[in-house]
Formats: sequence, structure tokens, C-alpha cells
Amino acid sequence: MSTTAETRSALVEDLIGRFPEVPPEAVLKEDLLRTGIAFDESALTDNLDGEVKPKSYFIFSFDQKPLAELGAAAVRRPPEEIALTGGPWGLRRTIVSVRVNPESPYSVSGSADGLVLSLEGRLLADVALPPMPEYYRHLLDNGKTVMETAPTIQWGYLIYLTVLRLCQYFGAHEECKFCDINHNWRQHRKAGRPYTGVKPVEDVLEALALIDQYDTERVSTAYTLTGGSVTSSVDGLAEADFYGRYAEAIESRFPGRWIGKVVAQALPKADVQRFKDYGISIYHPNYEVWDKRLFEIISPGKERYVGREEWHRRIFDAADVFGASHVIPNFVAGVEMAKPFGFESVDSAIESTTEGLDHFMSRGITPRFTTWCPEPTTPLGRDNPNGAPLEYHVRLLGAYREALDRHGLSAPPGYGPAGPGNAVFSVSSFMDTLTP
Ligand code: SF4
Repeated sequence: MSTTAETRSALVEDLIGRFPEVPPEAVLKEDLLRTGIAFDESALTDNLDGEVKPKSYFIFSFDQKPLAELGAAAVRRPPEEIALTGGPWGLRRTIVSVRVNPESPYSVSGSADGLVLSLEGRLLADVALPPMPEYYRHLLDNGKTVMETAPTIQWGYLIYLTVLRLCQYFGAHEECKFCDINHNWRQHRKAGRPYTGVKPVEDVLEALALIDQYDTERVSTAYTLTGGSVTSSVDGLAEADFYGRYAEAIESRFPGRWIGKVVAQALPKADVQRFKDYGISIYHPNYEVWDKRLFEIISPGKERYVGREEWHRRIFDAADVFGASHVIPNFVAGVEMAKPFGFESVDSAIESTTEGLDHFMSRGITPRFTTWCPEPTTPLGRDNPNGAPLEYHVRLLGAYREALDRHGLSAPPGYGPAGPGNAVFSVSSFMDTLTP
């Protein structure tokens, strides 16, 4: 069943009513993530000079317009995340990653009582912004910022180390069709922003030392080592050696200080074992989309260099190394409905995605998902500026929880607390939907 609603408010309220097992916080968060938010100037930051933590552009742009079309938000950055509470639905604290869209029906603006989130002019929630962390106020010896070198997201829980800002899957026949990593690198360079292609190991260690020193409440709990795929070499190193050198250096210098995670291609078992030996505890060999036909179209580089069946086989191999619960492949929720290739009905998209969940969960592996942001410079974003139907996202949350129950699994490790009002994972509401 699908719904037609005349306004966005009616659509959101209809889905909240029809799917009472999904918290209203999660329904709203999914819509914000797929639609983006227009920011009033009063809700923008003073970049690194103010009291609010700015958006770091930690890997992709996650904006629904190019930087050059963001107006004031291109000069004064928006906040990294927002926290929503209250409003007509009495929202429990809900942390949402910021995706900017000047044309969004959602806006964050100032009021007499502080910042508020509105939809089509109707007030929906009070908005709190993330405070500037002390470690962002300190520079590396070479003048680089911690925000660019080792930004934190998820309200400070996760240090996001995109050590390679480019992907060697290049061009229309290799890049994943939802991904703007290479475009994002180009647009930041063009705007004259510091945006390091390959982060020196020493810079990463120095930034982590600042976080370790000034994060006195020890909010930062995990780090993710990630970046583009390496099909030849970077600094003369193949992918496992390239990402492995950071893991080795971090765990030698700060043994066990944070939960170490690596997002990389599905690599042969011996390479995966090296990540584990360096001290990494969680491995994310992201499969992006389950359906065979769609995988070949949407992730042509992954199909070409590894192949879908081999990718999946290596996910299972990695479970022998890390333990099944610590292999957490991501998929991008929504791209399976992107025109012109995707499923045409929500039913068939959910059925396919659930088949993938069962495939992995039946072996103890818990995938997780991020909510597709239709960035305009990607093929799928260009053709689908409104993203996937909200009903798909809402039903996926229910299907995911049911799949976990069916296989006797619980929330994957390394994402902080679960449950509405508790979750900090900001780029999908799957953690907001699970039972604490
Ligand atoms: S592998 Fe795909 S999703 Fe990952 S960075 Fe490369 S193009 Fe983007």
C-alpha cells in the first residue's frame, strides 16, 4: 500500500499513524535525512570561531545543492547535527545529521524561544545545536584544523577519519551512482577550503592526541578509518596496507583508547586479518544494495573489481576473523527505489532488502544502513531529487527490527546507545527505532 498526501505534513502524520511500531522521532528523522533542511541565517555557525560545532563535510557532501548554491550556508557553515525535542509530538531527543537544502519544506530558524524546526510553516520541534568541542579550538603544529583532520560526529561519539578523500573507482563506469566523494573533494578544493586528499599519518595522530587531551569527559568512543576504494595504490600502498598503516599507528600510540573500525572494500581474508591484528575491532565491507541487478548497475566498480558474489563471500570470511557480530556491512537505504533502475513499488523494494538482511543475519552478521541523500551531482540524485518514498524508509525500519528479532540479534556494537531519546547515530534512524 502506498499513500498519497497533499502536503508533507499530511504525509508524515499519515505514516506516523499507520506505523505505530516506528517511533515518530524516527519517521521525522528519515524525512529530514532524505529531504534536507533550509537554514535561516540565525541557525548558521560562526565556523570555527563560534560556540557551535560546524558541519565538517566528513566524507560526502550530504547536501542537496552544490556548495556554490547554498547561499549564506556556503560561507557560514551550518551545524554538524541538530538535536530535536518537544513540539506537537513531544519528541524525545533526536539527533539528526545536517543535510542542507535551501528548497526544503523543513526549516530551522530563530524564534523568541530559541531555534525551532518548522515544516511548511508549522512548528515541529525545539532545536539544540552541538557545542563547539574544545579540541576543535586547537590547531595542529602545521596549522591544520582538527575539524578537517579528525572531525567528530554523532554528538561527539565517533571520530571520522576519511584519510583518503578520493575514490579510485572513477567516472560513470566505476563510481557508485549515489556517491559524491570525488565531486565533493573537487568542490571543496574549488572553494579554497582546506580538504586534504591523503591525510598524513602524523597529522591524524596529532589530531587524535588533541582529542584525547581535551575530550576530558571521554565522549569520543570510536573512530572510523575510511575513504575511497584503492584499486591500484596510494603512496605506493595497496588498500589493506594503506588503511592498515593508520590502524597500526593509532593502536600503537593509543592502544584501546577508542573502538577502531575500518570501512574498506571486501578484501581477501589475509588482508582482513591484518586489520584485526593491528587492533581494529569492527569491519564494514559495505554492500550498498542487495538486489543483484541493481548492485551491478549502482556499484559498477565493486562489481568490476570484486564482483557481488565474491563480495558477499568475503563478508562471511571476515566473520571468521572478527566474529560475526563485528562485521557490519552497510547498505544505502533508498537507492533500491531510485529511478530509472530501481524497484517501482515499496513492497518489492522491502521484500528484496529483507532478503539481504536474512541472508546475512541468518549467519549472525548484522548489516546496518544509512539513509540515502540524493546529492545532485550524482546520477541517482540528479534523477531523483526527492529521494525514495518516505513510506519505504519507515517500513524498512520495521522490517529491520523484525529481522533482528527473527534471528535473535540485537543492535550492532559501536553505535552508542539505542532507542528513541538515546540514540546518537545521526545518518539513519535505525538506532532510534531499536529497543534500548
Ligand atoms: S566505493 Fe563507491 S561509495 Fe565508496 S567511495 Fe567509492 S564510489 Fe563512493
